[in-house]
Amino acid sequence: MIKLGKYSLGIGDRFGRQGSAQLKAIIEAGRHGIEITPVWNKSNREHITIGSQPEDVRREADEVTKKSGFKKPYFVDADHINFETVDWFIKSSDFFTIDVASCIGQRAGNDEIQIFLEGAEKYSGNLKIPGLKRPLKISVNQIKFIAGKYLFAAIKAWEIYRKIEKLRGKGNFITEVSMDEVSQPQTPAELFFILKMLGEESIPVQTIAPRFSGRFNKGVDYVGDPEDFADEFEADLMVIDFAVKEFGLPQNLKMSVHSGSDKFAIYPYIGSIIQKHNKGVHLKTAGTTWLEEVIGLAESGDTALAFVKSLYYEALKRVEELCAPYYDVININISLLPKKQDVARWDGRRFSAALRHIPESRYFNPNMRQLIHVAYKLAAKKKDEYLHLLETNEKRIGQCVYENIYKRHICRLFGIN
Ligand SMILES: [Zn+2]
Repeated sequence: MIKLGKYSLGIGDRFGRQGSAQLKAIIEAGRHGIEITPVWNKSNREHITIGSQPEDVRREADEVTKKSGFKKPYFVDADHINFETVDWFIKSSDFFTIDVASCIGQRAGNDEIQIFLEGAEKYSGNLKIPGLKRPLKISVNQIKFIAGKYLFAAIKAWEIYRKIEKLRGKGNFITEVSMDEVSQPQTPAELFFILKMLGEESIPVQTIAPRFSGRFNKGVDYVGDPEDFADEFEADLMVIDFAVKEFGLPQNLKMSVHSGSDKFAIYPYIGSIIQKHNKGVHLKTAGTTWLEEVIGLAESGDTALAFVKSLYYEALKRVEELCAPYYDVININISLLPKKQDVARWDGRRFSAALRHIPESRYFNPNMRQLIHVAYKLAAKKKDEYLHLLETNEKRIGQCVYENIYKRHICRLFGIN
C-alpha cells in the first residue's frame, strides 16, 4: 500500500500556476529538518469554476517537482469527491478525499443499523481510551443515535472506496474520508464509532477530516477558544490511536485539517500536541494561495492593481451569490467591507495590506479577505487576462505565495524559527 508521510500539506491552487512557489516552501522546511509531503488538491467544484481538468493538476505537480529536482513522494488529491464525481479523477489522482458530509443524518436501513449495534454495544458504559484524561461515557442510546446519524454516510464511503479500488487497484492510492463541511462538529465519541464503521469494511483510511468545534472560516483565523480546540484535538488523536488498534485501521491514520490555512491561533497547539504524541497531520491550505496572487497583483500596480480592484468591485455587487456555496465556512460582516469609493483611492500597498493576513495590522480586513477568497470565479471569467497578469508578475507573486506558506504556515505549525 502506498503510504502518506507523517506530515503532509494540501497545496495546489485555483489556477494551477503557483506549484513551484509552494514546493519551494516545502523544500525549505526540509532544510530545517521538517519533511513534508506535498499534496496537490483540487475539488470538482473548483475545476468546474475554473474550467480546468484533473489532468492539469497532475501535469503541474509532475512538472514542478521534476523542475525543482524534488525526489520525495508527492500526491494529487481528488478533493471532496463522491460517487458521481469521482470518475473524472481516477486517472490523474492517487489520493482521494471521499466526502460523505452530505449523507450525515440520513438513516441507513434497519438491518444495517441492527448489525452495527450488535458489534458496537460492547463499547457502552465508561470507555477507557489510553491518553484520555477521563473515560468516554457512552450510553446505548447514544450509540443508536450515532448509528442513525452516521452509518448511512459510512456505507456511502464504503461504496465510493470500492469503486476507486476497482478502477485504480488496491493499495495504489491514499484514502481520506471527510465530514468537515457540516454545521455540527463531531465529538470524540462520534469519531470513535465512525472509525469503527470504516474498519468494518476494512477501508484503508489514512487521513480523516472531522468537523471540529469552533469555526474554520476560509482564509482567516480560527474562531473559538484555542484551548478548547486543543483539548478536542488531543482527544480525537487518542481516539484515532485506540481505534487503529481496535478496528485494524492503517497504522499511519492521521488527522486532516480542512480549511486549515490561516488558523494561526491553533497552529502552536496542533504542533505541540502532535509532537507530544509523535503523530502526523495533514493540513489543507489551497485557498490561501489564490489570495496571495491577488496580493501580489495589487503590489505590482498599474494594470494588475486595476484588475484586482475591478474584481473587488464586482464581488461587492455579488456578495450573496458568491458566498452562498460557502455558508458553513465563511462569516462576512457586509457593513465592514471597504466601500468602492474608498478602495478606488488606495494604492497597491494599501490594497494588499487590507488583504494580507497579518491579524495585528490595523489595515487588515478579514471581511474583505473572505470575500476575495470566494471570488476566484470572477477571475475565472476573465481567465486569459488573469493568467497573462500572473505571468507578467510571476516573480513578485511567487514570493508572496512562498512567504505565506513557509513563514506564516509551516514555521508556525512546526515551530521553525
Ligand atoms: Zn474540506
